[in-house]
Amino acid sequence: MPLAASAAEFHFSAMPSVHIKTYGCQMNERDSDQVARMLVEKGFTMVADETEADVILLNTCSVRDMAEQKAIGKMGMLRKLRKARPHLVLGYLGCMAQARGGDLLETSPHVDLVAGTQKFHRVADHVQALLEARMHALIDDERRPIVDVAEEEGSQSEIRDQNLEQGQVTAFVSIMQGCNMHCAFCIVPRTRGGERARPISDIVEEVRSLAGRGVKEVTLLGQIVNLYGRHEFPKVDGKSPFVQLLEAVCAVDGIHRVRFTSPHPIGYRDDLIDAFRRLPELVEHVHLPLQSGSDRILKAMRRGYTAEKFRLLAGKIRDARPGMAITTDIIVGFPGESDEDYAATKNLCEALSFDNAFVFRYSPRSLTPAADLPGQVSEEVKEWRNKDLLEVVNRHTADRLHALVGSEVEILCEGPSRHNPERLTGRTRSNKIVVFEGAPRHLGAIMPVRIVRASGSTLYGDPVVLD
Ligand code: SF4
Repeated sequence: MPLAASAAEFHFSAMPSVHIKTYGCQMNERDSDQVARMLVEKGFTMVADETEADVILLNTCSVRDMAEQKAIGKMGMLRKLRKARPHLVLGYLGCMAQARGGDLLETSPHVDLVAGTQKFHRVADHVQALLEARMHALIDDERRPIVDVAEEEGSQSEIRDQNLEQGQVTAFVSIMQGCNMHCAFCIVPRTRGGERARPISDIVEEVRSLAGRGVKEVTLLGQIVNLYGRHEFPKVDGKSPFVQLLEAVCAVDGIHRVRFTSPHPIGYRDDLIDAFRRLPELVEHVHLPLQSGSDRILKAMRRGYTAEKFRLLAGKIRDARPGMAITTDIIVGFPGESDEDYAATKNLCEALSFDNAFVFRYSPRSLTPAADLPGQVSEEVKEWRNKDLLEVVNRHTADRLHALVGSEVEILCEGPSRHNPERLTGRTRSNKIVVFEGAPRHLGAIMPVRIVRASGSTLYGDPVVLD
């Protein structure tokens, strides 16, 4: 057997290299960044090309069955890379790893690591141990995969400072993990566990460090972000822990804009709405996931509010400050959704005129209560409602963008436009994308721009002051 000879390849000339592929949401991006940082601290190098890597990690998403199938398919393909690199370590991280645990080794028997959502801070140690073990495995032909998905108290506090790219002026800051809400369509409580918050002091320290390195805008991240810390920290002077955190983050020198996602409507209590009146750093944008405009469906979804309560809340938020933008998420075709239920959603969308909306066709997610509900809606009907609602949503988005033509807005310039690198792009405080002809000195600047035209999704403008 030529294994002893292969083992010679294991005397790495450089430190072993790692490639991480991330599926899903911003939270996953932030988690991957965290894992990469810890690996680099241990001396690993990160590579963009998977064919050059000694270790390939897939940070997975479970929000839909399709997302899981994609990662499993990818992992199947990666196996072929072992022909050229027999020592290659392969691992699943994150939500699917958490939801499926050791069962993934049956689906993907060539995998070495399955690390769940409370174990990101252990990945670097596991990878190191696996690389060493694989050296021996090449000799004694015995592989010992690691499955680490147990709950771990305090894991949310293992989040540390993050790497920034040259000129980066915006950053995501993870403030909590998990969710206790159990919405009927959602896998998150299963993949991310119960709500666990980082202490305010840790988060503020991270934000201070980001500001010190040039970041001007932070987005606070959590699965149910505006209910941050409700089980751990007390109210102070009638203010929830989330409002206390917002005050502390807004007070950090150098931070000009504060956003947060993803919230739940029930978390917008009066103290939070009042914070929009008091804290100028808090931007004029609120994400308010409606999901459905029918009380019957909202109840089946276990959302905890009615359409009327949602409508009143949207009004309160808009009254809190001029120019407040509201965006939303809507699911069409939830089990049992009748034509009347869908019409209620459509009517509410017309009435509330959201600045933007993400419309999803319901797709049954195994291991969630809704997957087993009677009255599953046909794909044809879902498709029709999806298209029909998008027409409403896109019309309102375009109207709101066109209403800004001729006005002056403040943008934070983030860098070259994705579609035309000759031009620059930035976001308004209300989270609208503005493309403009700029100069290198505008990079990272907070600056006024006059809007000259609008497309269905983007604003185009000219800098007001060209100094
Ligand atoms: S609040 Fe959000 S994360 Fe929590 S269960 Fe509902 S949809 Fe999922």
